[in-house]
Amino acid sequence: MSSAAAARPVRAAIIGGGIGGLAAANALLQRGVDVQVYEQAAELGEVGAGVFIYPNSLRQLERMGFREALAAVGGKVGAGSHYKRMDGTVVGNIVTADSSGWNGMYGMHRADILNALAAALPRGMVHTGHRCVGFSQTDESATVTFANGRSIEADVVIAADGIRSVLQPFVVEPSPPEYSGFRAYRGLIERDKLDSWPDRTHQVWMGHGKHFMVFPVRSGTLLNYVGFVPLDIETVESWSAVGDRDQLAASFADWDPLIGKLLDKVESCFWWGLFDRRPLRTWCNGRLTLLGDAAHPMLPHLGQGANQAIEDGVALGVLLQGRSARDVPAVLRAYEALRRPRASMVQTESRRNGMRYDSQYESLAKRDEEIRNIATLRLSLYDYDVEAAALEAAREAA
Ligand SMILES: Cc1cc2nc3c(=O)[nH]c(=O)nc-3n(C[C@H](O)[C@H](O)[C@H](O)COP(=O)(O)OP(=O)(O)OC[C@H]3O[C@@H](n4cnc5c(N)ncnc54)[C@H](O)[C@@H]3O)c2cc1C
Repeated sequence: MSSAAAARPVRAAIIGGGIGGLAAANALLQRGVDVQVYEQAAELGEVGAGVFIYPNSLRQLERMGFREALAAVGGKVGAGSHYKRMDGTVVGNIVTADSSGWNGMYGMHRADILNALAAALPRGMVHTGHRCVGFSQTDESATVTFANGRSIEADVVIAADGIRSVLQPFVVEPSPPEYSGFRAYRGLIERDKLDSWPDRTHQVWMGHGKHFMVFPVRSGTLLNYVGFVPLDIETVESWSAVGDRDQLAASFADWDPLIGKLLDKVESCFWWGLFDRRPLRTWCNGRLTLLGDAAHPMLPHLGQGANQAIEDGVALGVLLQGRSARDVPAVLRAYEALRRPRASMVQTESRRNGMRYDSQYESLAKRDEEIRNIATLRLSLYDYDVEAAALEAAREAA
């Protein structure tokens, strides 16, 4: 490797401009990495759905300068957030703060967080219309090729291309998608359409083989609802198939009347099949690494998928700061050592929590006890500071 390459900032190519890719772009940029993002779609965009941003990632996003932008669009939740049985009987409180009492969480419209992340990047850094189709590397650098005929060279390639990652097979034998047996109906409804609603709360109803949840997004002007129902046949990993509103309403017809009141106002909804993959054996190969759903797709039952993706980006930013192209393979190994155990644990716990939500228990009393105790796991997730952990890992590696 030339001495010029050793002296200049690391050149990073991020493949995928979703929440994970754009959060990583900001984290790397702020730490002096020369970063470019390549997204297959003709323009950046997100589906009309909600995502919860929890203290473990909001802490990082606020440090990165997104405090005001997210506060302007987030939906706050707090006291009155409950886990309930299907008839509305309260089982326990949902934790809405970390151990210090910081209520650092928002229900977010996915487009709102994506827009905030994109707006902070310099014009020209995100290259849309670039569908990655190939990858190769030498000891010196990596090359990515795109369906549009272009190819680019970088010192590090970060695959943030989602659950169907085309780059994952260049890292490890692919872990096949596993269908959970569930379909999720989701949508957004204007808060004003409902006469009354427990505002500023997150509500989860748990029934036999199904669960339903609602939380506010876009400063509380919209409510995000998701109904999880069993379906034997495998359904696509799509985020945007049009759902049958009547089927959704029928699935929850004999539940808490509050759900019925909300669904009465729903005119259309979307659905998607819920898939995850088992934790991977490794996340990196030389100059290529995986991030977000490309590395650790998980079921949504702890609401941590995007949060873990954001943590990944922060970790990479810290570990790449001040390093040279020559250091990249060692940096990626340190990234994997830091991130893979935690993300794998969250993948496993997300499956387990889905069983609680869907009441897949012989004794509901035992399930209810576990739900009340889930606060311990949630606090351990929320209190984690990935920046501090990555700085520690960087010190140890030095
Ligand atoms: C029902 C449900 C609810 C959820 N709720 C939450 C929640 O409350 N909190 C939470 O943290 N997470 C939640 N998640 C999970 C979260 O949405 C995902 O984990 C997160 O969006 C992953 O981000 P990503 O950037 O890794 O992948 P993606 O969002 O899938 O982005 C991948 C990007 O890569 C692009 N791309 C794909 N292939 C290529 C290619 N070949 N070349 C170039 N670009 C490519 C895609 O177009 C896309 O823009 C939920 C998920 C589900 C299913």
